[in-house]
Amino acid sequence: MIQTVLGEISKEELGIVLPHEHILVGFIENGKLTKDDYDRDEVIRVMLPYLQELAAAGCGTLVECTPEFLGRDPQLLAELSRLSGLHIITNTGYYQRPYLAPFVYNMSPEDLADIWIKEALEGIDGSGIKPGFIKIALSNKNGRISPIQQTILKSALLTSNETGLPIQAHTIGGDAIMHALEILTMENFDPSRFIWVHADSEQDLTYHKNAALAGMWIEVDSIGYRPFEEHYEMLKKLIEMGLLNQLLISQDAGWYNVGAKNGGNIKPFTTIFESFVPFLKEKGISQNIIDQLMIANPAKALDNRKKAI
Ligand SMILES: [Zn+2]
Repeated sequence: MIQTVLGEISKEELGIVLPHEHILVGFIENGKLTKDDYDRDEVIRVMLPYLQELAAAGCGTLVECTPEFLGRDPQLLAELSRLSGLHIITNTGYYQRPYLAPFVYNMSPEDLADIWIKEALEGIDGSGIKPGFIKIALSNKNGRISPIQQTILKSALLTSNETGLPIQAHTIGGDAIMHALEILTMENFDPSRFIWVHADSEQDLTYHKNAALAGMWIEVDSIGYRPFEEHYEMLKKLIEMGLLNQLLISQDAGWYNVGAKNGGNIKPFTTIFESFVPFLKEKGISQNIIDQLMIANPAKALDNRKKAI
Protein backbone atom coordinates (compact mmCIF):
# COMPACT_ATOMS: atom_id res chain seq x y z
CA MET A 1 0.00 0.00 0.00
CA ILE A 2 0.96 3.61 -0.52
CA GLN A 3 0.32 6.38 1.99
CA THR A 4 -0.96 9.59 0.38
CA VAL A 5 -1.97 12.79 2.18
CA LEU A 6 -5.62 11.69 1.83
CA GLY A 7 -5.08 8.14 3.06
CA GLU A 8 -3.83 4.79 1.83
CA ILE A 9 -4.20 3.64 -1.77
CA SER A 10 -3.04 0.53 -3.60
CA LYS A 11 -0.01 0.86 -5.82
CA GLU A 12 -2.21 0.17 -8.86
CA GLU A 13 -4.08 3.40 -8.10
CA LEU A 14 -0.96 5.58 -8.39
CA GLY A 15 -1.12 5.85 -12.19
CA ILE A 16 1.70 7.86 -13.74
CA VAL A 17 4.00 9.09 -11.00
CA LEU A 18 6.34 12.05 -10.70
CA PRO A 19 8.52 10.80 -7.84
CA HIS A 20 10.35 14.06 -7.08
CA GLU A 21 8.66 17.49 -7.24
CA HIS A 22 7.98 20.44 -4.93
CA ILE A 23 4.85 22.51 -4.34
CA LEU A 24 6.20 24.83 -1.62
CA VAL A 25 9.76 25.52 -0.46
CA GLY A 26 11.13 28.12 1.93
CA PHE A 27 14.90 28.23 2.14
CA ILE A 28 15.10 29.69 5.63
CA GLU A 29 17.96 28.47 7.80
CA ASN A 30 18.10 26.82 11.25
CA GLY A 31 14.53 25.54 11.31
CA LYS A 32 13.12 29.06 11.58
CA LEU A 33 10.50 28.76 8.82
CA THR A 34 6.96 28.77 10.22
CA LYS A 35 3.51 28.56 8.67
CA ASP A 36 3.16 32.31 9.32
CA ASP A 37 5.89 32.99 6.76
CA TYR A 38 3.44 32.32 3.91
CA ASP A 39 -0.27 32.59 3.21
CA ARG A 40 -1.73 29.13 2.61
CA ASP A 41 -4.64 30.54 0.56
CA GLU A 42 -2.24 32.37 -1.71
CA VAL A 43 -0.12 29.23 -2.19
CA ILE A 44 -3.30 27.35 -3.17
CA ARG A 45 -4.35 30.11 -5.56
CA VAL A 46 -0.91 30.13 -7.22
CA MET A 47 -0.14 26.40 -7.29
CA LEU A 48 -3.55 24.82 -7.98
CA PRO A 49 -3.55 25.69 -11.72
CA TYR A 50 -0.16 23.97 -12.14
CA LEU A 51 -1.52 20.85 -10.46
CA GLN A 52 -4.75 20.89 -12.46
CA GLU A 53 -2.70 21.20 -15.63
CA LEU A 54 -0.62 18.23 -14.48
CA ALA A 55 -3.70 16.10 -13.77
CA ALA A 56 -5.07 17.02 -17.21
CA ALA A 57 -1.79 15.89 -18.78
CA GLY A 58 -2.42 12.40 -17.38
CA CYS A 59 -0.39 12.36 -14.20
CA GLY A 60 -1.85 10.37 -11.30
CA THR A 61 0.53 11.03 -8.43
CA LEU A 62 2.93 13.77 -7.40
CA VAL A 63 5.50 12.95 -4.74
CA GLU A 64 6.20 16.14 -2.79
CA CYS A 65 9.79 16.10 -1.60
CA THR A 66 9.92 19.22 0.56
CA PRO A 67 11.06 18.08 4.00
CA GLU A 68 10.36 19.45 7.47
CA PHE A 69 12.07 22.85 8.13
CA LEU A 70 11.81 23.72 4.41
CA GLY A 71 8.04 24.09 4.14
CA ARG A 72 6.49 20.65 4.41
CA ASP A 73 2.81 21.43 5.00
CA PRO A 74 0.59 18.33 5.06
CA GLN A 75 -2.71 20.25 5.38
CA LEU A 76 -1.84 22.41 2.39
CA LEU A 77 -0.98 19.30 0.36
CA ALA A 78 -4.20 17.56 1.41
CA GLU A 79 -6.24 20.56 0.29
CA LEU A 80 -4.40 20.71 -3.05
CA SER A 81 -4.90 16.97 -3.51
CA ARG A 82 -8.67 17.33 -2.95
CA LEU A 83 -8.90 20.31 -5.31
CA SER A 84 -6.72 18.90 -8.12
CA GLY A 85 -7.69 15.23 -7.95
CA LEU A 86 -4.00 14.26 -7.91
CA HIS A 87 -2.65 11.82 -5.37
CA ILE A 88 0.01 13.66 -3.37
CA ILE A 89 2.55 11.99 -1.11
CA THR A 90 4.45 13.78 1.65
CA ASN A 91 7.39 12.70 3.78
CA THR A 92 9.05 12.43 7.14
CA GLY A 93 12.78 13.01 7.70
CA TYR A 94 15.16 15.99 7.76
CA TYR A 95 17.26 17.77 5.16
CA GLN A 96 20.75 19.13 5.74
CA ARG A 97 22.82 21.87 7.31
CA PRO A 98 22.07 24.83 7.44
CA TYR A 99 18.36 23.97 7.17
CA LEU A 100 18.13 21.95 10.39
CA ALA A 101 16.63 23.14 13.66
CA PRO A 102 19.33 23.43 16.37
CA PHE A 103 17.90 20.54 18.44
CA VAL A 104 18.72 18.08 15.64
CA TYR A 105 22.47 18.40 16.28
CA ASN A 106 22.10 16.94 19.79
CA MET A 107 20.07 13.91 18.77
CA SER A 108 21.11 10.30 18.24
CA PRO A 109 19.81 8.31 15.25
CA GLU A 110 17.46 6.51 17.65
CA ASP A 111 16.08 9.82 19.01
CA LEU A 112 15.39 11.13 15.51
CA ALA A 113 13.90 7.83 14.40
CA ASP A 114 11.47 8.00 17.33
CA ILE A 115 10.12 11.33 15.99
CA TRP A 116 9.85 10.08 12.42
CA ILE A 117 8.30 6.73 13.33
CA LYS A 118 5.70 8.56 15.41
CA GLU A 119 4.83 10.70 12.37
CA ALA A 120 4.49 7.56 10.25
CA LEU A 121 2.24 5.85 12.76
CA GLU A 122 0.16 8.75 14.11
CA GLY A 123 0.46 11.48 11.50
CA ILE A 124 2.38 14.76 11.29
CA ASP A 125 1.90 17.43 14.01
CA GLY A 126 -1.54 16.23 15.04
CA SER A 127 -2.92 16.51 11.49
CA GLY A 128 -3.50 12.78 11.17
CA ILE A 129 -1.78 13.02 7.76
CA LYS A 130 0.93 10.40 7.40
CA PRO A 131 4.13 10.40 5.33
CA GLY A 132 4.58 7.99 2.39
CA PHE A 133 8.38 8.05 2.40
CA ILE A 134 11.45 9.32 4.23
CA LYS A 135 13.26 12.33 2.74
CA ILE A 136 16.83 13.02 3.79
CA ALA A 137 19.93 14.72 2.39
CA LEU A 138 23.52 13.55 2.45
CA SER A 139 25.67 16.64 2.05
CA ASN A 140 29.30 15.68 1.78
CA LYS A 141 32.86 16.92 1.60
CA ASN A 142 35.10 15.19 -0.93
CA GLY A 143 32.56 12.40 -1.22
CA ARG A 144 32.35 11.62 2.52
CA ILE A 145 28.99 12.23 4.18
CA SER A 146 29.27 14.74 7.04
CA PRO A 147 28.73 13.42 10.60
CA ILE A 148 25.32 15.08 11.14
CA GLN A 149 24.09 13.71 7.80
CA GLN A 150 25.35 10.26 8.79
CA THR A 151 23.20 10.52 11.91
CA ILE A 152 20.24 11.47 9.72
CA LEU A 153 20.97 8.59 7.34
CA LYS A 154 21.11 6.07 10.20
CA SER A 155 17.86 7.46 11.56
CA ALA A 156 16.28 6.95 8.13
CA LEU A 157 17.42 3.32 8.09
CA LEU A 158 15.88 2.71 11.53
CA THR A 159 12.66 4.43 10.49
CA SER A 160 12.43 2.49 7.23
CA ASN A 161 13.03 -0.84 8.97
CA GLU A 162 10.31 -0.04 11.48
CA THR A 163 7.69 1.43 9.11
CA GLY A 164 8.44 -0.09 5.68
CA LEU A 165 8.72 3.37 4.12
CA PRO A 166 11.28 3.89 1.33
CA ILE A 167 14.02 6.52 1.60
CA GLN A 168 14.69 9.33 -0.89
CA ALA A 169 18.19 10.69 -0.25
CA HIS A 170 19.32 13.94 -1.86
CA THR A 171 22.90 12.99 -2.79
CA ILE A 172 25.19 14.99 -5.05
CA GLY A 173 27.92 12.94 -6.71
CA GLY A 174 28.82 9.27 -6.90
CA ASP A 175 31.44 9.17 -4.11
CA ALA A 176 28.82 10.17 -1.53
CA ILE A 177 26.45 7.47 -2.76
CA MET A 178 29.25 4.91 -2.37
CA HIS A 179 29.76 6.14 1.20
CA ALA A 180 26.02 5.78 1.78
CA LEU A 181 26.21 2.25 0.42
CA GLU A 182 29.03 1.44 2.88
CA ILE A 183 26.80 2.57 5.73
CA LEU A 184 23.78 0.63 4.39
CA THR A 185 25.94 -2.49 4.18
CA MET A 186 27.32 -1.96 7.68
CA GLU A 187 23.79 -1.54 9.04
CA ASN A 188 22.56 -4.54 7.04
CA PHE A 189 19.91 -2.40 5.30
CA ASP A 190 18.15 -3.47 2.09
CA PRO A 191 19.32 -1.01 -0.65
CA SER A 192 16.15 -1.62 -2.68
CA ARG A 193 14.42 0.62 -0.10
CA PHE A 194 16.79 3.48 -0.99
CA ILE A 195 16.45 5.99 -3.83
CA TRP A 196 19.51 7.91 -5.01
CA VAL A 197 17.99 11.37 -5.56
CA HIS A 198 19.80 13.60 -8.09
CA ALA A 199 21.69 10.66 -9.60
CA ASP A 200 22.00 12.81 -12.73
CA SER A 201 24.43 15.03 -10.77
CA GLU A 202 27.06 12.35 -11.48
CA GLN A 203 28.33 11.83 -15.02
CA ASP A 204 30.46 8.72 -14.42
CA LEU A 205 27.92 5.93 -14.88
CA THR A 206 30.13 3.38 -13.13
CA TYR A 207 28.65 4.74 -9.89
CA HIS A 208 25.11 4.20 -11.14
CA LYS A 209 25.98 0.67 -12.14
CA ASN A 210 27.46 -0.13 -8.74
CA ALA A 211 24.60 1.50 -6.83
CA ALA A 212 22.02 -0.35 -8.94
CA LEU A 213 23.88 -3.68 -8.68
CA ALA A 214 23.65 -3.28 -4.90
CA GLY A 215 19.89 -2.76 -5.33
CA MET A 216 19.45 1.04 -5.10
CA TRP A 217 17.01 3.04 -7.22
CA ILE A 218 18.57 5.55 -9.61
CA GLU A 219 16.52 8.77 -9.85
CA VAL A 220 17.21 10.99 -12.86
CA ASP A 221 15.21 13.94 -11.59
CA SER A 222 16.28 17.22 -13.11
CA ILE A 223 14.52 16.75 -16.46
CA GLY A 224 14.01 20.22 -17.95
CA TYR A 225 17.00 21.84 -16.24
CA ARG A 226 19.37 20.64 -18.98
CA PRO A 227 18.99 20.00 -22.71
CA PHE A 228 16.74 16.94 -23.25
CA GLU A 229 19.50 15.40 -25.35
CA GLU A 230 21.75 15.05 -22.26
CA HIS A 231 19.10 13.30 -20.19
CA TYR A 232 18.12 11.11 -23.13
CA GLU A 233 21.77 10.04 -23.59
CA MET A 234 22.13 9.26 -19.89
CA LEU A 235 18.91 7.23 -19.78
CA LYS A 236 19.80 5.40 -22.98
CA LYS A 237 23.19 4.38 -21.57
CA LEU A 238 21.68 3.32 -18.24
CA ILE A 239 19.09 1.21 -20.08
CA GLU A 240 21.82 -0.34 -22.24
CA MET A 241 23.64 -1.21 -19.02
CA GLY A 242 20.59 -3.24 -18.00
CA LEU A 243 19.32 -0.84 -15.31
CA LEU A 244 15.82 -0.11 -16.70
CA ASN A 245 14.18 -1.90 -13.78
CA GLN A 246 15.78 0.49 -11.27
CA LEU A 247 15.35 3.86 -13.01
CA LEU A 248 13.04 6.70 -11.99
CA ILE A 249 12.51 10.02 -13.78
CA SER A 250 11.22 13.34 -12.46
CA GLN A 251 11.75 17.09 -12.75
CA ASP A 252 12.38 18.64 -9.31
CA ALA A 253 10.02 21.32 -10.62
CA GLY A 254 7.62 23.79 -9.02
CA TRP A 255 7.50 25.58 -6.56
CA TYR A 256 5.96 28.41 -4.59
CA ASN A 257 9.09 30.04 -3.18
CA VAL A 258 8.41 31.48 0.29
CA GLY A 259 9.33 35.16 0.38
CA ALA A 260 9.15 35.73 -3.38
CA LYS A 261 6.33 37.85 -4.80
CA ASN A 262 3.47 35.53 -5.84
CA GLY A 263 5.77 32.57 -5.20
CA GLY A 264 8.39 33.72 -7.71
CA ASN A 265 9.32 31.94 -10.89
CA ILE A 266 7.46 28.64 -10.98
CA LYS A 267 8.53 25.79 -13.24
CA PRO A 268 5.46 23.90 -14.53
CA PHE A 269 5.14 20.17 -13.75
CA THR A 270 4.07 19.27 -17.29
CA THR A 271 7.41 19.51 -19.15
CA ILE A 272 7.95 15.77 -18.93
CA PHE A 273 4.50 15.07 -20.45
CA GLU A 274 4.37 17.81 -23.07
CA SER A 275 7.97 17.83 -24.25
CA PHE A 276 10.29 15.19 -22.81
CA VAL A 277 8.22 12.05 -23.44
CA PRO A 278 7.54 13.11 -27.07
CA PHE A 279 11.29 13.78 -27.41
CA LEU A 280 12.10 10.28 -26.11
CA LYS A 281 9.59 8.74 -28.51
CA GLU A 282 11.13 10.58 -31.45
CA LYS A 283 14.45 9.07 -30.40
CA GLY A 284 12.88 5.62 -30.56
CA ILE A 285 12.19 4.94 -26.88
CA SER A 286 9.09 2.72 -26.75
CA GLN A 287 5.87 3.36 -24.85
CA ASN A 288 6.61 0.18 -22.87
CA ILE A 289 9.85 1.64 -21.58
CA ILE A 290 8.16 4.94 -20.75
CA ASP A 291 5.42 3.09 -18.84
CA GLN A 292 8.04 1.15 -16.95
CA LEU A 293 9.86 4.38 -16.01
CA MET A 294 6.75 6.33 -15.02
CA ILE A 295 4.27 3.71 -13.75
CA ALA A 296 5.77 0.32 -12.86
CA ASN A 297 9.08 1.44 -11.36
CA PRO A 298 7.77 4.19 -9.06
CA ALA A 299 4.98 1.90 -7.86
CA LYS A 300 7.59 -0.63 -6.85
CA ALA A 301 9.98 1.93 -5.36
CA LEU A 302 7.28 3.64 -3.27
CA ASP A 303 5.39 0.57 -2.11
CA ASN A 304 5.45 0.14 1.64
CA ARG A 305 7.25 -3.10 2.28
CA LYS A 306 6.85 -3.53 5.98
CA LYS A 307 7.56 -7.12 6.74
CA ALA A 308 4.55 -9.01 8.02
CA ILE A 309 4.88 -9.65 11.75
ZN1 LIG B 1 14.08 18.30 -4.77
